[in-house]
Amino acid sequence: MTDQALLETRELRKYFSQSSGLLDSFLGNEDHVQAVDDVSLTVDTNEVIGIIGESGCGKTTLLELLIGLHEPTGGEIRFQGDRLSTFDRKDWKRFRRNVQIIFQDPFNSLDPKMTVRESLREPLAVHGLDDKTARIRRALENAELDPDTYLDRLPRQLSGGEKQRVSIARALVTEPDMILADEPASMLDVSTQASVLNLLNDLSTELGVSIIYISHDLSTVGHVCDRINVMYLGRIVESAPTEQLLHEPKHPYTEALVNAIPIPDPHHNRPRTKVEGTPRDPINLGEGCRFRDRCPERMDICDRTPRTTESDADHQVACHLYYEHEEVGQ
Ligand code: SF4
Repeated sequence: MTDQALLETRELRKYFSQSSGLLDSFLGNEDHVQAVDDVSLTVDTNEVIGIIGESGCGKTTLLELLIGLHEPTGGEIRFQGDRLSTFDRKDWKRFRRNVQIIFQDPFNSLDPKMTVRESLREPLAVHGLDDKTARIRRALENAELDPDTYLDRLPRQLSGGEKQRVSIARALVTEPDMILADEPASMLDVSTQASVLNLLNDLSTELGVSIIYISHDLSTVGHVCDRINVMYLGRIVESAPTEQLLHEPKHPYTEALVNAIPIPDPHHNRPRTKVEGTPRDPINLGEGCRFRDRCPERMDICDRTPRTTESDADHQVACHLYYEHEEVGQ
């Protein structure tokens, strides 16, 4: 673990038991869904990290682990150097003020009976913060909403984009160090998506907030993030700075995701492709590359689990194509 990171995970695992009864548990015959497996991530101050993957890849479970909703099966999470597993009530309260979430669905994330002012006042009351009016106005301004226009509106008087901006203001009102954004633009129309993504980008630059941005859509993650982690069936299979990952993807799965991004220029002749097939059953995944059923580059060695290697200083990939030959046989 490094000293400077705002948030770090090391070899983080979350397995869910699928046992059919007490006898199975007693005999140790339980099946497990390896929702998050061996995930090591580092998020620095003022950094925006993307986690991208298909539905069911484990990204939402990872987010839930990061906010303490699940007990990890193994590994650890540190926030500002401190292990979450050692937190007492006071630590959790400090953590919950410093780490806020923006949910996917702006239509259900606000209480329909509360005005914008009341929605933003609630987290301030929970955390015992004073100077409420000034904090609320500042949060709305940071979310690019005029306080005088919006303070007394109810959710039904807001558009989808305005609701998501109020959710962002609510996340900002406690002045957190980190925001976890769970597909924050996926339920908005395309033009509103762009403005919400630009806003998130500005927040990290202007307020120094670190963001973990979770999405199934590589094109939106690419707009916002400094670094992208590609997740497949519970594991990070590739991690690199955004430009590098989009222009020089290494892992066959990442390559397929990049090739599936729509290209606005009709004269651009790169063929668009999609990942063929479906992910394998996530129960008892066992040994081997988890992408091997869908991989056009599959080799015999792929029945063994690839370890993560650095293709260069800042670019990690978990694929046998990037091992040195002598390492393959080890
Ligand atoms: Fe494909 Fe093998 Fe690499 Fe997995 S390890 S992505 S199956 S080449």
